[in-house]
Amino acid sequence: MPGPSLVLILNCGSSSLKFSAIDPADGAESLYGQAEALGTSAARLKWRQHNEEGDEQLSPTDDCESIIEALVGRFAESWSHLRERLMAIGHRVVHGGEHFADSALIDTKVLSAIRNCCELAPLHNPAALQGIQASLTAFPQLPQVAVFDTAFHQSMPDYAYLYALPYSLYRDHHIRRYGMHGSSHRSIAERGAQLLKTPIDKVNIISGHLGNGASICAIKGGQSLDTSMGLTPLEGLVMGSRCGDLDPGLLLHLGEALDYSLAELELLLNRKSGLLGISELSNDCRELEEAMAKGHAGARLALNIFCYRLAKYIAAYTVPLKRLDALVFTGGIGENSSWVRRKTIDWLSPLGYQLDAERNEKIRFGAEGRISRIGTPDIFVIPTREDWVIARDTARLAAKAQ
Ligand code: AMP
Repeated sequence: MPGPSLVLILNCGSSSLKFSAIDPADGAESLYGQAEALGTSAARLKWRQHNEEGDEQLSPTDDCESIIEALVGRFAESWSHLRERLMAIGHRVVHGGEHFADSALIDTKVLSAIRNCCELAPLHNPAALQGIQASLTAFPQLPQVAVFDTAFHQSMPDYAYLYALPYSLYRDHHIRRYGMHGSSHRSIAERGAQLLKTPIDKVNIISGHLGNGASICAIKGGQSLDTSMGLTPLEGLVMGSRCGDLDPGLLLHLGEALDYSLAELELLLNRKSGLLGISELSNDCRELEEAMAKGHAGARLALNIFCYRLAKYIAAYTVPLKRLDALVFTGGIGENSSWVRRKTIDWLSPLGYQLDAERNEKIRFGAEGRISRIGTPDIFVIPTREDWVIARDTARLAAKAQ
């Protein structure tokens, strides 16, 4: 029987809980599960473990706490072979504010710092805290680590993270750009450096994490120099149902001229905009590509706007890097949509980018590799491994706790 070698990763959101068991040594996944639509009658728990799979209905009253309790029951019975191998628990936490430039072993001080960040991430941090509390009760003997989406971006310089607002808003209320998807961009920096055979502290990469949420990061010497998400995940690229960059005056106009309340604005910007809002069809890229192929004009327009905005960001992020080693596509869309990659790179041809059309079509569904033509700037597709980054950080800090 192998010794403890697995990290259980918990990612508690306001309406979902994802969990996985990862070996930090090689990234192998022994268990994956997802509870979704929590708080509704459609709530379900799906999981897979080697050759077994499950899909069960949950009660609308189930929350992160009750699901973690149920997981403990499974680890005591059908998953006991995995329970024996758990060495630590890693929690994905969206916002660490300016408190955390690295992951942290959870203690009362860390818990109180995460609580302090709830004001900056009211939808995300309270859910993460609920999950951490439940997990501390459920697994009291295992070290637990918080891994922050914002931590990787704490290396951004002030000229990149400050808004052009009165400085007192930063000084007194911590209003600044923080960025998200840090573990994903970090995994791209690390894997990109390996593929380029360059030491991580020398590698310059533009990483585009394109999923239902999307952000792009300028990575210089392995560190985040700038990223497109800001105080919240709303800023930057066009996303599934989030708008990305807007004229802030537009919000005043919606409030004054069209009488939008704050709650209506929140819903509009986060849930009704982006690909969904423009296409009037779906937030899902694959579905939009299928509709576009059948002549749906809204789907085409939404995807065009998505690629145009992305190309502008890629061009802009070339400036602070001075030297760029590679552009990387990742996330569900970046890893799979050869159409989005082609359309985006078409805009960038004045900068010398050219795709190898055949490789661009081939590299999908978890494959990795170069998609640019030989002799032109490097473009890679690299599947994101944020779970592995979280597992490695957790194992590193848990070892220190021993
Ligand atoms: P993520 O949030 O990283 O899971 O990414 C979800 C997004 O990836 C959705 O918009 C999906 O439609 C998109 N996606 C996944 N597979 C494909 C595919 N084969 N072609 C186009 N888009 C895809």
